[in-house]
Amino acid sequence: MSPRNAILSTQLIISIQQDHFYQHLNKINQKLEEIAFQDRLTQIPNRHYFDYYLDQEWRRMAREKQAFSLIVCDVDFFKAYNDTFGHLQGDYCLQKVAHSLESILQRPADKVTRYGGEEFVIILPNTEVEGAIHVAQKMRLAIKQLKLPSANQKVSQYVTISLGVTSVVPSQKTSPRQLLDEADKALYQAKKQGRDRVVLAKRPTLTTLQNQVCVN
Ligand code: GH3
Ligand code: MG
Ligand code: MG
Repeated sequence: MSPRNAILSTQLIISIQQDHFYQHLNKINQKLEEIAFQDRLTQIPNRHYFDYYLDQEWRRMAREKQAFSLIVCDVDFFKAYNDTFGHLQGDYCLQKVAHSLESILQRPADKVTRYGGEEFVIILPNTEVEGAIHVAQKMRLAIKQLKLPSANQKVSQYVTISLGVTSVVPSQKTSPRQLLDEADKALYQAKKQGRDRVVLAKRPTLTTLQNQVCVN
């Protein structure tokens, strides 16, 4: 081999090795991103992902002038559940709840995230409030259908969830944090009114729909 060809083949080997190295690095980065965005217990998107996705979809819906809905849901009497059945069983319950909530969603852009503890937030881009109420009711029934024994039978013999729903077409006047705050207040009302129910946020544009929210 001539000296020139020897140099060329060495350069080729180096470039192939570099290519393999960058492909490998890319895979590692993708894996790290997945781990950073995934809740370890339930394997669903975590709070970090929620923050990122909420912001991204809010801006997308603002550009497209489409409705953006949020559901905040919380397992009822979960402290009593842990106290009665133990933490391991509590963890298992959270896994079942998370997967059951996910099974209700049909569009790829819809996401269930574990916001913290026994609280989940569902992000529904391109979804009007009627659709969000429908999804919330389906989720409430699906959790009851799991027939996990309840530790506090005041509300039901099975584990239940309470849900707060809100929806808006994003504009300069509102922020994603405001929307989350609204859904959270609605959840608080659902707890106050007796749990195992869906409550719609109080906002003038939503009040005409209050009657659509049934309990059973
Ligand atoms: P409410 O109906 O008002 O929501 O009452 P609650 O008992 O569900 O609410 P509270 O905030 O008093 O208790 C939440 C419990 O959730 C307490 C905490 O130990 C438990 N918890 C939070 N994260 C986890 C977890 O990852 N695993 C288990 N097993 N329990 C958890
Ligand atoms: Mg709770
Ligand atoms: Mg809670």
